[in-house]
Amino acid sequence: MTPRSILPGATLGVMGGGQLGRMFVQAAQSMGYFTAVLDPDVTSPAGLVAHYHIEADYLDEQGLAQLMQRSAAITTEFENVPAGALVTLGAHRPVAPTADAVAVCQDRASEKAQFRRSGIPCAPHALIDTPERLAAVSDSLLPGILKTARLGYDGKGQAVVADRAALAAAWDALGQVPCVLEQKLPLALELSVVVARNAHGDVVQLPVQQNLHRSGILAVTQVPSPDASPALQAQAAAAAAQLATDLQYLGVLCVEFFVTTDGRLVANEMAPRPHNSGHWSIDGADVSQFDLQVRTLCGLPLVAPRQHSAAVMLNLLGDLWFGTDGAERSPPWPAVLALPGTHLHLYGKTSARPGRKMGHLTVTAATPEAARATALQAAALLGLPAF
Ligand code: ATP
Ligand code: MG
Repeated sequence: MTPRSILPGATLGVMGGGQLGRMFVQAAQSMGYFTAVLDPDVTSPAGLVAHYHIEADYLDEQGLAQLMQRSAAITTEFENVPAGALVTLGAHRPVAPTADAVAVCQDRASEKAQFRRSGIPCAPHALIDTPERLAAVSDSLLPGILKTARLGYDGKGQAVVADRAALAAAWDALGQVPCVLEQKLPLALELSVVVARNAHGDVVQLPVQQNLHRSGILAVTQVPSPDASPALQAQAAAAAAQLATDLQYLGVLCVEFFVTTDGRLVANEMAPRPHNSGHWSIDGADVSQFDLQVRTLCGLPLVAPRQHSAAVMLNLLGDLWFGTDGAERSPPWPAVLALPGTHLHLYGKTSARPGRKMGHLTVTAATPEAARATALQAAALLGLPAF
């Protein structure tokens, strides 16, 4: 059945009130939609800008009922939104992505099983959910990275383990919850691809993004990728489209990849939503990842985004709000904004904490070299390391 389009003037609902929800709300509002956000936090970044903020937990029945009553269609911005809540909502309203697809991405073991089904290589790994499985782990996976199977983000719920003793200690420290142990791969590069698919099976994507992580948190995204060969980029783009198709995905999906030092492309993980590495598209492409989320949710035409400017995105973590003396300060925005092609996005978070994503800065320019040069100047002004 071809769903009917949901047109501007309708209200779109979002599960989750973080920065991804905020940027979805902003994209939806600029197209003339009303928006409703469900998030328990009174000062959630998306709740602050949405027309309606339902302050309730993700499993609160009354809250879910209110969201359904308000909304013509519902999306999610938060990977760990309970799949059960999406099932409830999906019984009454169009929901994108669907509970099934979100469930696959919520669990590292099922995510890797999907990579295998789609014929896409991923890191050698083993599920550790019992002491027996811990004991049976192959030495070939060490040194490795132990990751909780569920609920991890920004490198949280992860530990690098050098040997079996460290592995056992790390699993204890993580509370012996189900985990995946991955072989620690020698990385040359990290890439990601944002892809959108609609109910007709049309797939469009943003160009391949090159990502630099620091302490497990995304720090810098460069588009176009300065270091990935055209062949690798084509392979990453094809793999992302394949996954969207195989999952019969509805909405925006981001696939993260590693490139190993011997030049192999390996899938890392998927996010069933727009992704931090795609934020540059707001300022550097004619259709952003959030526009794609609105279009797929509403059954509007999907057109391939065109990157009109080279872009470098710097994540702005809470650390920038503290001086070397530890005192809270405001980062030097006027100096940063004096640079050409800088686009400042702050998420309205009321308090800064080290490691907390407070905003991002996208630098656009006519050439990748110019974008990078300006981004390096901005980084220096902000006290961020060069890249
Ligand atoms: P997010 O959801 O914020 O992207 P996450 O907490 O789910 O992060 P991962 O993407 O699994 O974390 O890992 C974070 C980073 O740690 C990766 O981008 C990479 O830099 C490093 N990393 C993770 N797994 C491996 C691996 N198997 N080998 C080498 N490095 C790894
Ligand atoms: Mg990741």
